[in-house]
Amino acid sequence: MKAAYQYRKEGLLIVVSGPSGVGKGTVCSALRKRMPQLVYSVSATTRKPREGEIDGVNYFFKSVPEFKRMIENGELIEWAQYVGNYYGTPRRFVEETLAQGKDVLLEIEVQGAMQVKERCPHGVFIFLVPPSMDELLNRIKGRGTETEETIADRMGAAADELKQICHYDYVVINDEVERACDRLEAIITAEHCRRDRLIMET
Ligand code: 5GP
Repeated sequence: MKAAYQYRKEGLLIVVSGPSGVGKGTVCSALRKRMPQLVYSVSATTRKPREGEIDGVNYFFKSVPEFKRMIENGELIEWAQYVGNYYGTPRRFVEETLAQGKDVLLEIEVQGAMQVKERCPHGVFIFLVPPSMDELLNRIKGRGTETEETIADRMGAAADELKQICHYDYVVINDEVERACDRLEAIITAEHCRRDRLIMET
């Protein structure tokens, strides 16, 4: 008997976490260039914009009362406090984009990723790690955007975040951006071919 195959129409929800400074932003931008069909979810945050960051592109920059209103109105799929600021993922955009069959990329820290995992267990959870903690410190310092105190806070947060690695499906070492991208691209391609995404008509 002839079989017809069809993959589920809903897009993949891809969650990338990793300690601050690991290069998530750089790797995810490079990945989006390679896979322009990936839709990036812009988060809301109460953090002040860094130089060059644009409202609505890098983040939706919110005041604390505005952010709390978003939480109360159920507008966020997940939210977390990270090193003194709030961060969260707007729900509607993600749900509508997935329903259109497009893949969505969330670049979020671990507390938020675990909330997403509870709500969307079919998501793909990827943890990006630095080649070493020394290298992570060099990268945070090299970015030149943080004070000594925030650097210490971010290194502390990184150590805590690394303990959560067991909750992720994949671990990618960011030793070199293009190589890390190769691995992410391979993961996404493989996830699209999973048997449980296949609807078979016999
Ligand atoms: P940064 O201040 O360096 O832009 O981000 C700090 C951390 O917050 C990073 O680990 C980043 O991935 C994470 N983050 C960014 N957006 C969100 C979000 O919407 N939700 C959560 N939970 N974390 C986020």
